[in-house]
Amino acid sequence: MEVPNIPNLIYYAIPFFAVTVIFEGIVLFKKHPQTYQFKDTFASLAMGIGNVLVNLLSKLLIVFLFTFIYQNYRISTIPFVWWYWLLILFADDVCYYWAHRMGHESRFFWASHIVHHSSQKFNLSTALRQTWTGGFFTFVFYIILPFLGFHPLMIFTQMSISLLYQYWIHTELIDKMPRWFEAIFNTPSHHRVHHGSNPLYLDRNHAGIFIIWDKLFGTFQPELKNEKVIYGLTSNIKTFNPIKIALNEWISVFKDAFLAKTSLTNKLKYFIKPPGWKHDGSGKLSKDLRNEWFSSSSGNNIN
Ligand SMILES: [Zn+2]
Ligand SMILES: [Zn+2]
Repeated sequence: MEVPNIPNLIYYAIPFFAVTVIFEGIVLFKKHPQTYQFKDTFASLAMGIGNVLVNLLSKLLIVFLFTFIYQNYRISTIPFVWWYWLLILFADDVCYYWAHRMGHESRFFWASHIVHHSSQKFNLSTALRQTWTGGFFTFVFYIILPFLGFHPLMIFTQMSISLLYQYWIHTELIDKMPRWFEAIFNTPSHHRVHHGSNPLYLDRNHAGIFIIWDKLFGTFQPELKNEKVIYGLTSNIKTFNPIKIALNEWISVFKDAFLAKTSLTNKLKYFIKPPGWKHDGSGKLSKDLRNEWFSSSSGNNIN
């Protein structure tokens, strides 16, 4: 099969990222000079640069593994014709949804993904605030693709397209897109909800490109006018140090597991169960916070 030469699109997008982050920064700074936080933007950029560098290494592992699976175990051969790009668009996007959802619902994956949610700001630079560790294991959610017969190059190209798509949705400068667009695609409004620490917004809208998966799998929440998004975590880490941002949650999950006076199975559960879980039952998960909020007065007033 003729394999086309497709470069890594992310590298080509870096100058575009730089120009648009600066442009949006100027607009935001002019609007509210007292609330724009340069330190936060620089921390996000540092996380983005670190992510690109670490991925040089993790990509080697994934390219090797996916190529090995594709060459030896694929059940079909999907050619590089245009309509198969449509197939991989949907196939990759549903894998992304589950990878991202698990990034919120299992503490091992959350320890890596928390980086993306560690800012209390929401602007284009937040999109670049990426994990330094996830590259080594998040691929497990995509491993079905080479088995199905998608060429690794097709997979990596589509993963980059998905990441590029998700860049522009990290902004407050766009309110709502046209209704039909909001119904099908992930948008700034849907993704603001995803970055919210409000109980109503916790663990909602895990979509990559299409918001349809959240609607299908029951995690969709529209942005409500009377529930302004509070960005960040339910308990914020309050640091701009990139190394602390990258490793903070890893340290705390290992600490929780090792220091807990409980069985080995329970210790392991600290890595598997959702963030907030405790072996003695005293922990609060996102769903508990949501339920408490719904039964409170503020929850009753939402419609
Ligand atoms: Zn997320
Ligand atoms: Zn995001």
